[in-house]
Amino acid sequence: MTHATPHWTVDNHFAQLGADFSSPVQPTPLKNPKLIHANAELGARLGLSKADLHSDQWRAILAGNAPLPGGAPVAAIYGGHQFGHWAGQLGDGRAILLGQLRAPDGQSWDLQLKGAGMTPYSRFADGRAVIRSSVREYLAGEALHHLGIPTTRALSLITADDEIHRETFERAAVICRVAPSHVRFGNFEWFYSQNQPAQLRALADYVIHHFYPELTNAPDRYHDWLRQVSARSARLIAHWQAVGFCHGVMNTDNMSILGLTLDYGPYGFMDAFDAAHICNHSDHNGRYAWHQQPGIGHWNCARLVQACSALLSDEPPQQVQRAQAILDHYAEVYSATMRALWLAKFGLRGDGAEDDAATEVMNGFLTLMQQNHADFTLSFRALAQVSCAENSPAPRALSDHFFDSAALGVWLQSYQALLRAEGQDDAVRAQAMNRVNPRIVLRNYLAQQVIEDVEAGNSAALTRLLDALSTPYSDDPALDAFAQVPPPEAARISVSCSS
Ligand code: AMP
Ligand code: MG
Repeated sequence: MTHATPHWTVDNHFAQLGADFSSPVQPTPLKNPKLIHANAELGARLGLSKADLHSDQWRAILAGNAPLPGGAPVAAIYGGHQFGHWAGQLGDGRAILLGQLRAPDGQSWDLQLKGAGMTPYSRFADGRAVIRSSVREYLAGEALHHLGIPTTRALSLITADDEIHRETFERAAVICRVAPSHVRFGNFEWFYSQNQPAQLRALADYVIHHFYPELTNAPDRYHDWLRQVSARSARLIAHWQAVGFCHGVMNTDNMSILGLTLDYGPYGFMDAFDAAHICNHSDHNGRYAWHQQPGIGHWNCARLVQACSALLSDEPPQQVQRAQAILDHYAEVYSATMRALWLAKFGLRGDGAEDDAATEVMNGFLTLMQQNHADFTLSFRALAQVSCAENSPAPRALSDHFFDSAALGVWLQSYQALLRAEGQDDAVRAQAMNRVNPRIVLRNYLAQQVIEDVEAGNSAALTRLLDALSTPYSDDPALDAFAQVPPPEAARISVSCSS
């Protein structure tokens, strides 16, 4: 069923997969919902004007207080591996897919409310979200999007008068999450665990038809599709590494089948560089530490490929062999992407004779940052100011982050020598580096300040931070406040899974 109005066209092709894939559910209305922020840029892509987003009708839709005309709200069933262990049935416990909106360019977008009340998959929880987690998800989607990293985004942030019980009572909030699809690795793992191969195949066909249409008629389409999912996941994680982003909860139910960053919980952008940085205070063993993410991505892809192995071949030995090749592809794509991203961050070509020297220089800088607790973002940003001239000193913007100036000096000489060997031009290199090394990232303490403001009923700071995050590479001095290391008192901020 498709519903058309002068403004928008809505259906729910995921719901049409049937009762084995999702359950119909109505959002639970909120008390006195207030639209705190509407994403005008994303709205425009969807064909929704500012006037639409701020209308009473859309506020009610985005709060879950009125139906989306033409939609068919459902919660999806999925399972997943959490912290390395099969967790059984999970599902959309507090997310409700209203339907898909067809944008003016023909692209179909899931509109999913997160925090809209209980679903058949809420298990022991309330189906709600609080302001802090909703603001954090809204901010993170925009931050990654503007860094060019694939992600779900939020169209709106709504708060309400309902009181939600967490460690204390907090006010409810709901975001409208937008992506081409919210299907996860865990959706496939669920059907595998239930020995439902027909449903698994139907879901694969759905995903290929809608989101990998170029593979629809490929003779070996399931293989090609899994290979692409692995490649996209590898590229995604390489991009996280390059900006010091830690997801925090890389469970397989939080892995997007489209290679998007999905389900923002206790994520973090690193301040001081620590390869073993753990952003989630509930992750006691550091399973999801920054330097673990690429390997975890590989492990997660192995769970997906295992779940889908019957699609690869009828013969178990063939399945294993083909699965291995797909996972090897993950490793190749990750290495090649990561190498290219690191080289770009250092402004190096690293080809031919300079290949090993580049590796040494790049590793040397990471080691030095680690030893000096140097700020990841600002240290990389400052590299653009290094002159390749022999014996030219470290720029202040760089040396400020390193207490061991002797070690920095030694490293700098090797970097400068390499730049000269590559015949690099300082100005050209600086320009290119400033397009890949952001100055402004979503630091936890910035998010925390905004959360406190929104909780107090003030959304101006949220708007200012969103604006700053939309120009991560800007040198505009008006944005200097967003490009600072955290103040000492920010050390008390901790994020966990509670949301
Ligand atoms: P997450 O750790 O946010 O990825 O969530 C893991 C699982 O717990 C998913 O099935 C969620 O839908 C569910 N979940 C998390 N928070 C809630 C909540 N407040 N109410 C219902 N289900 C939840
Ligand atoms: Mg999740």
